[in-house]
Parts: sequence; C-alpha cells; structure tokens
Amino acid sequence: MDLKGKNAVVTGASRGIGLQIAVDLAKQGANVAIVDIGSEEAAKAAVETVSSYGVKAVSYRCDVSSGASVKETVAAIKKDFATVELLVNNAGITRDNLMNFMKEEDFEAVINVNLKGVFNMTKAVSALMIRQKFGRIVNISSVSGMMGNAGQVNYAASKAGVIGLTKSVARELASRGITCNAVAPGFIETAMTKDLSTENSPLIASIPLGRMGQVEDVAQAVVFLLSTDYITGEVLRVDGGIAM
Ligand code: NAD
Repeated sequence: MDLKGKNAVVTGASRGIGLQIAVDLAKQGANVAIVDIGSEEAAKAAVETVSSYGVKAVSYRCDVSSGASVKETVAAIKKDFATVELLVNNAGITRDNLMNFMKEEDFEAVINVNLKGVFNMTKAVSALMIRQKFGRIVNISSVSGMMGNAGQVNYAASKAGVIGLTKSVARELASRGITCNAVAPGFIETAMTKDLSTENSPLIASIPLGRMGQVEDVAQAVVFLLSTDYITGEVLRVDGGIAM
C-alpha cells in the first residue's frame, strides 16, 4: 500500500526510534503528528526534520499515560489533519531494578506509559479509524516482553501486555478494515540503552548477529507493517536473532 498522503500519529517521536519512524514515514510521503512529552526543543527539531521531506508535520505535547491528555491531543490532531490512517504507539520508558528493590511507583509508572498509554491512544485514534473503515496500527513491544529480562519485571510485563493488547485489538477491529501488529526490538542504540556497556559485553555475545541494532532497522519493520494489508496480530522481532 502506498503511504503517500496518509496521516500518521507517532508517539514518542521527538527522538530515538520514534523520530526515525516519523522520518521514514515522511520519506514515503506520509504526514506526521509528532506526539511526545519531551522538551519543546526536541519537538521543534523533530518537526523541522520531518517537514524537510515536504510533508506536513505538527508536534503535540501529550502524556500518553493520561486518558484526558490523549483525548485532548487526538481532538487537536483531528482538527489539524482531518483523518488519521496510521498509528504507531512507540512512547516508552524504563525504570529498571531487580524486583526486590523495585519501588511500587516504578512498577506503576512503566505500566502506565508503556501499556496504558497504548490503550489510551489506540482507543482514541481507532474511533476515527472505525469511522473511516480503514486503519493501520503498529505497537512497539520488546523482546523483554517475549523472553523476560532480569531487572525489568515492570518493563517486560508492560511489553508482554502490549503483545496481548495488539492481538486483541487485531481481532476486535479486523472487520472494520483495521490491522494491528507489533514490532519487538532487541537492543537498539538509543538514549534508552546508552548506559549499557557494550565493550566485550556478554550482551553483545548473546546477539547472533553480533551487534546492537540501529533505529533504522526498527523503522523499516514498522513502515513495512503499516504498508501491508493481509498481516494482522503479528509480532515481528527486530533483534539480531536474540529471541529466536
Ligand atoms: P527514547 O527514550 O529515546 O525515546 C522515547 C520517547 O518517548 C521520548 O521522546 C520520550 O519523551 C517519549 N515519552 C516517554 N514517556 C512519554 C509519555 N508518557 N507520553 C508521551 N511520550 C513519552 O527510547 P527509544 O529507545 O527510542 O524507545 C522507543 C520505544 O522502543 C519504546 O517503547 C521502547 O520501550 C522500545 N524499545 C526500545 C529498545 C531499545 O533498545 N532502545 C528495545 C526494545 C524496545
């Protein structure tokens, strides 16, 4: 499917994987609503980068973990773009610690952004898609949600939840012309992973392809799933082979 002229909402698009997804969508001719809770400067720079490909780009400050903030943002996006065909739920956070040291608020914060955020945004945007009888949704999960990861009970639970949510939405909305898939990245070089030590690391040794992934690797998979018509409820790993 041609993405030219389609309108996309990408959460967490001010930097990292989300920004690269927004750029790759713009390269395909899609307009992008950049939704993020981060700094004004980062949002402004993202709008400049994305619109340099000749598409419309507008940034919205929004906390995806808040239903009210999401409702307000999606109403503003509808006003600015009229329709939304593509949604990428990419915003996410980590608050890592071993379970016995993990604070209740760190468990809740991660579930609220990574899982409830996907629910809030999918509910609000799919209401528009149902009326349009068309939509493509991609949620960013993680191999942590498939395999588990010591030090990440909150994050792994949220990302496993995203997979369950993705498959349920795929079943609920298939008859409305809407597909919903997930991408599960492994270790990708971004601000989120900057503290991981990679020199002679067992982490790198555990990756069959022998290196961390790049944001472009993930964005390519997302654009593929947004462009296809007969794949729904799928989880596509982009992990150099870690979770095979
Ligand atoms: P990042 O920290 O560089 O970017 C995340 C973006 O989300 C930031 O711009 C941040 O401001 C935004 N954000 C955070 N909380 C938000 C909220 N409540 N509302 C709106 N926006 C919010 O991270 P990244 O590495 O680019 O990760 C992007 C996604 O990919 C996340 O869901 C992450 O869990 C997932 N992921 C990353 C990796 C990796 O190795 N980097 C691996 C697997 C999955």
